[in-house]
Amino acid sequence: MDKNLHIYNTLHRKKEKFEPINPPFVGLYVCGPTVYGDAHLGHARPAITFDILFRLLKHYDYKVRYVRNITDVGHLENDADEGEDKIAKKAKLDQLEPMEVVQYFTDRYHHNMRQLNVQSPSIEPRASGHIIEQLEMLEQIVDNGLAYESEGSVYFDVEAYNKKFNYGKLSGRNIEDLLNTTRQLDGQKEKKNSFDFALWKKASPEHIMRWPSKYSDGFPGWHMECSAMSTKYLGKQFDIHGGGLDLQFPHHECEIAQSTAAHGQESVKYWMHNNMITINGQKMGKSLGNFITLNEFFTGSHDLLEKAYSPMTVRFFILQAHYRSTVDFSNEALQAAEKGLDRLLTAIASIDKITPSKTSSVDVSALANKVYAAFNDDLNTPIALAHLFDGVKMINSIIAGKASITAEALSDLKSLYHTIVFDILGFNKTEDNSQVKDLSDDLMQFILQIRQEAKNNKDWGTADKIRDEMKKLGITIKDGQNGAEWTVD
Ligand code: ZN
Repeated sequence: MDKNLHIYNTLHRKKEKFEPINPPFVGLYVCGPTVYGDAHLGHARPAITFDILFRLLKHYDYKVRYVRNITDVGHLENDADEGEDKIAKKAKLDQLEPMEVVQYFTDRYHHNMRQLNVQSPSIEPRASGHIIEQLEMLEQIVDNGLAYESEGSVYFDVEAYNKKFNYGKLSGRNIEDLLNTTRQLDGQKEKKNSFDFALWKKASPEHIMRWPSKYSDGFPGWHMECSAMSTKYLGKQFDIHGGGLDLQFPHHECEIAQSTAAHGQESVKYWMHNNMITINGQKMGKSLGNFITLNEFFTGSHDLLEKAYSPMTVRFFILQAHYRSTVDFSNEALQAAEKGLDRLLTAIASIDKITPSKTSSVDVSALANKVYAAFNDDLNTPIALAHLFDGVKMINSIIAGKASITAEALSDLKSLYHTIVFDILGFNKTEDNSQVKDLSDDLMQFILQIRQEAKNNKDWGTADKIRDEMKKLGITIKDGQNGAEWTVD
């Protein structure tokens, strides 16, 4: 097996051979979700992309410490340090404690990740649990003269930093560009420059998430958590930092600046970014009404969905594209993914039916080399899948008696497919739930029909009983204009 992995380093804008700082250990940090709502397709992509990397590195015998954070404080509504905290806003709206919101959506995120067969990271730290570490790092930046206090808040001094280091190296922006593009907002008079960013914000009286510090009662700036927590768990220098392309600027640019300002050296060796998912050619957004959550995908309960799609179909759909390409959602693409995965899993199951011959007319090791070469070429999962489908043709022609395989090659073939498809690409062996899904749809329609009949007969007791019993099973029945609908909680 060729373990010569090359990955595209966004920082240097080229593919580079992966060489860990301290082999066999690998430090991997990925920005996780801000937990104020259900996970959607945009959360699934980085989770799955870096799950493949995590699995592949372990398969190559590296000892990986994978840190993926939970953002539970400090992420404001806009990137210019303005607006309400996203979690606090949701908490106010629902009359909950902010940490109730965090717990609720973290649990739901974990459930979705298990459905997608995404492995848990080694450590999943929360920002609110690392306020001390964030303040310590902030202090180092202030001591190094690269941050300043202003009316109880502390801002990063981008101009001063840029005189010693290079602000904008990751995203390719420079201070002149920023001056032209950064909006001057109200309430930013505290800053020397509009592009300076908050390390600590003084909390307004109505702000509920707050901690004491020598500057003010306040809360950390959003970018601080990742710098502080990656340093704590992976050290001042570590191997790979990943996240969505939307985080490249300002989030990751600010992380680089903070770590360099605090430690005098760059912290990350390889920066990796997955591209975005569009929906029918449009950017995803709540305001556009095309924001489809993973739960909606799995139950089919969104207007844009023609049917429910299983978690493994969504996983396959995402891996059919290279992680640095955009992916466009459409029902056709999802249905093609469903068929593709089914064809792959059927072929794997049929390997067991093959009777070996004395000679081989197929070359399993050549197939294995091609598949590994694809993974080693910057995690090229679509090419790896294309080779696996060539192998499916091979499997089918052996079964049809048009090709032959020896017992030894057959065992290699089986282990190749199991290793690649289940261990590295992370598809579930047991995934053949389409029949079960159809059956449960039919059963639910039957139950809803009985309930409707009870209602027609003004038998409210029975109708309510069905609704309540279903609720206990985790199924919510909602009455709408077009009859009753059901969703799995
Ligand atoms: Zn982050």
